[in-house]
Amino acid sequence: MRQVSVECRGVRLSYGATAVLRDISLAIEPGEFFALLGPSGSGKSTLLRLIAGFAQADAGELLIDGAEVSARPPWERNVGMVFQSYALWPHLSVWDNVAFGLVERRTPKAELRRRVAEALERVGLAAYGERRPGQLSGGQQQRVALARTLVIEPQVLLLDEPLSNLDKSLRVQMRQELLELQRRLGLTTIFVTHDQEEAMTTADRMAVLDHGVLQQVGSAQALYDQPANAFVAGFVGTMNLLPARVRSREGGCLLLDIDGVGDWRLPAPADEPAGERLLVSFRPHALQVGAVDGAGDAAAVHDAAAALHLAGTVEASEFLGEFTRYRVRVGVQDLVVDHAHRAGRARFPAGAPLGLRLEPSQVRLLPG
Ligand code: ADP
Repeated sequence: MRQVSVECRGVRLSYGATAVLRDISLAIEPGEFFALLGPSGSGKSTLLRLIAGFAQADAGELLIDGAEVSARPPWERNVGMVFQSYALWPHLSVWDNVAFGLVERRTPKAELRRRVAEALERVGLAAYGERRPGQLSGGQQQRVALARTLVIEPQVLLLDEPLSNLDKSLRVQMRQELLELQRRLGLTTIFVTHDQEEAMTTADRMAVLDHGVLQQVGSAQALYDQPANAFVAGFVGTMNLLPARVRSREGGCLLLDIDGVGDWRLPAPADEPAGERLLVSFRPHALQVGAVDGAGDAAAVHDAAAALHLAGTVEASEFLGEFTRYRVRVGVQDLVVDHAHRAGRARFPAGAPLGLRLEPSQVRLLPG
């Protein structure tokens, strides 16, 4: 099958006075498994419906396989969409549900039979053609919805929260199945999710949306390690964010005054944000936990290459198996600290003093 690209250029869409998509430019590669990730109401479904042809942009271009398709109706776009609700006909058999699109297209009988059988085979439901949707599990219904879309042989597959109706263990299994199927078919696939784990474990790349604004596009690791801003940092994983003021920029170093904590000296990164106010960010597991070294200072100034040492006090903790998540007070700030667990390792109680060590390489500076 020919793999096609999908591209949005300067797409805007408003409902009345509400701007839902604000100047979205995005290029999805042929054959890519691409996630649209963002909180509820961020505009993900609207963008997906726009690509499908169920919504119209006020401005901008939409290209599929390099051709502008904004004026084309959904059925002329070679796009297949699987809805969150599956939208199966309850009174029709699985076979007839899958055949529906082909009947509408007046596909000859022999071809229809072949294609429906093939689509059911692909999703592992060859033996279930006679059943009604109500006689299937949630995961099987999801596969019927998928087969019904695949049978029309779309060039682009659009999935709107395809796994959200399934329980946790089935969701993990289905997302692997979905990924394997996508790899086998090589179908350019765009799926909407608010679940960062789902996006990170499946997508080649993802776009993070907030309030209709595209925040960042990249691989899971790029977004996790190099978030563009505080929103992405907090949405893709957990991040400590400390507001800081730049005291000086000298000799490849930055001297920062962290609000309520003290001074930190860091090597200036290549992509240092401009401005006097910054956010110092680091992941909870980037902090190494140790006993207090007796220094006692809330924070100290160190030379650029050295690690930062902080002294804090345990406020609360949660045991999560793989690690213990602590809330630690440092100066006036609360930090989230993940400490890897080993059998027999005792938890630090609330009130215990804690020494924290942080490598400058694990710190990322974000716009304040
Ligand atoms: P998401 O998929 O990220 O949850 P949506 O694209 O469904 O977000 O919605 C984005 C925003 O657009 C929301 O504020 C929603 O209320 C609004 N919206 C979506 N569809 C319509 C519509 N048909 N009419 C008016 N507002 C809408």
